[in-house]
Amino acid sequence: MARVYNFSAGPAVLPESVLKEAAEEMLDYRGTGMSVMEMSHRSKPFQTIIDEAEADLRSLMNIPDNYKVLFLQGGASQQFAAIPMNLMKNKVADYIITGQWAKKAYQEAKLYGTANAIASSADKTFSYIPDCSDLPISENADYVYICENNTIYGTKFWQLPNTKGKDLVADVSSCFLSEPVDVTRYGMIYGGVQKNIGPAGVVIAIIREDLITEDVLPGTPTMLRYKTHADAGSLYNTPPAYGIYICGKVFKWLQNMGGLEAMKAINEKKAAVLYNFLDESKLFHGTVVKKDRSLMNVPFVTGNADLDAAFVKAAAAAGFQNLKGHRTVGGMRASIYNAMPIEGVEKLVDFMAAFEKENG
Ligand SMILES: *Cc1c(COP(=O)(O)O)cnc(C)c1O
Repeated sequence: MARVYNFSAGPAVLPESVLKEAAEEMLDYRGTGMSVMEMSHRSKPFQTIIDEAEADLRSLMNIPDNYKVLFLQGGASQQFAAIPMNLMKNKVADYIITGQWAKKAYQEAKLYGTANAIASSADKTFSYIPDCSDLPISENADYVYICENNTIYGTKFWQLPNTKGKDLVADVSSCFLSEPVDVTRYGMIYGGVQKNIGPAGVVIAIIREDLITEDVLPGTPTMLRYKTHADAGSLYNTPPAYGIYICGKVFKWLQNMGGLEAMKAINEKKAAVLYNFLDESKLFHGTVVKKDRSLMNVPFVTGNADLDAAFVKAAAAAGFQNLKGHRTVGGMRASIYNAMPIEGVEKLVDFMAAFEKENG
């Protein structure tokens, strides 16, 4: 068995110890005689799994009691609709457009009310985060929306926008649990787990309780109402049970790593290995304004599309996989999520240096 270094943006690398544990429990989960995949979501063992997962997430992120944790389905993309349906009481929301995922959320919100694009970095191919210290926030905005880490373009909000008192809603799909966050600064934090936490199929939403009401847009499906899932402890219908079980294991892995402060330090060290190389290299260049660089997704180019393709191919053959950049950006992208070991990045940089020597 040979594991590769997997730089995929998502679904993405998971901690090897978690995969091994899951393998050991595959046929007989702790004496139940069945896999978690085969287990009723109304059973005691599964209730324990979901309760522990929630408790561990709460402790990792220091989530206050007045926030609900929901385990949902439909991907982050379904939240692009659910958010306006649940939160647009005045039918107005402000969106900051820092990439494709923010843009998609904005376009979806326009189906339900007035969505204003109050800032954008489209002018420079989303290679930076706009100054959000004094934006024209709409007086009757129900929320201000951001995509906090832009998976495709490799930018990150290192400072949250000044929302002038409005609730902040953030898609954190690709930076979930990569660093500590102050949950109280958000009305809602959500993300698909397949980037930095677990297998595809689970969305985690952390929502302040007062935002979860029956006052939703007319026609909002029962399944898209946050109240439905909050009232039922995420067990209104069959949840993505196996995915939640793996997420729970990743939460415990993070606790063993020392929690989110420790994870942040590791992520900074890891990203620095790659960024320092890119800053010195004569062949490879990062595409993002330095102060806005993501710790999770690192796009880079040689400036020559043929050479980019040759690099991606050679890297894959050497065991560094999924380095091809997003089709809208070209070049390369290394996603270096929590579960990517630092050796993976160090070896990638060695490989890049050797490639540069041969092709520079
Ligand atoms: C991947 C991604 C999405 C889309 O997630 P799905 O689960 O495929 O709907 C949305 N936002 C961000 C930031 C992402 O990285």
